[in-house]
Amino acid sequence: MTAEGTRERDGAVPGVAHDRGVPPGVTKVYDGIVLGAGISGLVSASVLLEKGARTVLVIDEYERVGGNHLDFSIDGYTFDVGSLIFQDDSPLVHRFPELLPRYVPVEPTWSRLNPQGKVTDYPFSMKDDLVAAGPAAWASMAASLVASRFRYRNQRNARDFTRFWVGTKAAERTGLEHYIERFCGLPSEVIDLDFARARMMWIADNARVWPRVTRAARGLRKRLARRGPEVEAPTQRRTQQLVRPREGFDALYRPLVERLESEGVEFLLSTPSTAIERADESLVVRTSAGDFSSPMLVSTVPTHRALALVGVDSEPLPTVTIISLLCSFAGRRGFDTSILYNFSHDGSWKRLTMHSDFYGPVREREYFCVEVVGSGSVRTVAEAEKSFREHTQANGLFHGDLRIEGGHVLENVYPVFTGGSAARAADQVALLHDHGVTSLGKQGGFDYQPTARVSTRNAEKKLGGTVSPK
Ligand SMILES: Cc1cc2nc3c(=O)[nH]c(=O)nc-3n(C[C@H](O)[C@H](O)[C@H](O)COP(=O)(O)OP(=O)(O)OC[C@H]3O[C@@H](n4cnc5c(N)ncnc54)[C@H](O)[C@@H]3O)c2cc1C
Repeated sequence: MTAEGTRERDGAVPGVAHDRGVPPGVTKVYDGIVLGAGISGLVSASVLLEKGARTVLVIDEYERVGGNHLDFSIDGYTFDVGSLIFQDDSPLVHRFPELLPRYVPVEPTWSRLNPQGKVTDYPFSMKDDLVAAGPAAWASMAASLVASRFRYRNQRNARDFTRFWVGTKAAERTGLEHYIERFCGLPSEVIDLDFARARMMWIADNARVWPRVTRAARGLRKRLARRGPEVEAPTQRRTQQLVRPREGFDALYRPLVERLESEGVEFLLSTPSTAIERADESLVVRTSAGDFSSPMLVSTVPTHRALALVGVDSEPLPTVTIISLLCSFAGRRGFDTSILYNFSHDGSWKRLTMHSDFYGPVREREYFCVEVVGSGSVRTVAEAEKSFREHTQANGLFHGDLRIEGGHVLENVYPVFTGGSAARAADQVALLHDHGVTSLGKQGGFDYQPTARVSTRNAEKKLGGTVSPK
């Protein structure tokens, strides 16, 4: 489509604000260009409109919008790459309310396989991780905690952080250290402290004794108060958990794309960019489908890719590659939650999500996605499958007919903070800024973004738009 206000080489639209004409060799001029049509790119396009842009071009290599929100349909089963759960109070829904009726409301439940081979509470179980250990282990864990608080008070990495907060023995017994390794594909002692502080503060929150005591005291006070005259407690609205519609992410994001298109955004998909060049006050993005110019360029693609486009060689930053095993199953499960984490000492898989708990079984078979971080001896779908089968069999997780329906390898899933990569990322973002490119998002900002909620607010803040409520 050609949005109103777009200046084309043949037939420029007159009377457009900021009209600079079409420079030679440029196919079209836009008020803003966004590289990447993931959540960060879509929100960026919306913020640019909000800030007065009348024409915005969004360019992506993928043939569809949504970035790493990927789904696969195989023989009636419908899989996500990963565990993608959304919320009805998300800033993404606040910005794009047309998404809400398309989601499927669900009641997900979480558990974890602990190193003792027991399926128990996620992320901690007081009963199974501590009480069940017995008096000798309690004494040893308590002594280890005291020693660790001294030994690791000057923390240097994620291992020190975990040990400081829960003690070396409890970190081992709960499987926390192994989970971190499985999460990043690297030993926890080479994961930077920045990452631990950004992503693992829940460990510290769970380990702080005083807030637990005050919470318990508050609970007790409330219970005692309820024995007196009945007082109506204020009802707090519960967040509704959601998954994408059964038909896939395309069906979810279609109305959002239509709305953005009606407001002046054009999408150029399946189109890699080949170069970014300066031309006076503007930047020209060269692609196989034409050359597009704008005074405002937002990039949400990996920083080394954007730097290559401006002609600067740089080292790619470390990111996680996820191998997804797309499985179906008939038989008896050894767990009853929809999401199961692997905190045990072995097995390369990280998490599995039972999509059939949300969408219903197909031909009486359940189906689910297993996430495996590609590292060490597990780099292919076949290697991931072998390791998953062996481990789940040893732990009695699937009794019956387990089939692998497909597999997918996805790179650049999330950043790994190791060897000062966050500082290198900041330098790369600053370099792009010097070239006139605003780089943001999970890949463009090397930003660990666990939810679309975080991606939305970060893009809004970075571009100076209205920031959606948390
Ligand atoms: C493990 C994990 C689990 C998650 N689970 C959830 C969840 O349960 N719920 C939730 O709300 N969020 C979840 N998220 C977060 C969600 O995935 C992020 O909001 C989102 O991925 C961030 O989007 P993005 O646009 O920054 O990056 P991406 O989704 O990676 O999009 C970047 C886009 O840039 C494109 N691109 C790359 N190179 C180029 C190029 N040279 N030219 C043009 N385009 C290019 C890519 O094709 C892609 O479309 C999860 C994230 C991770 C890592």
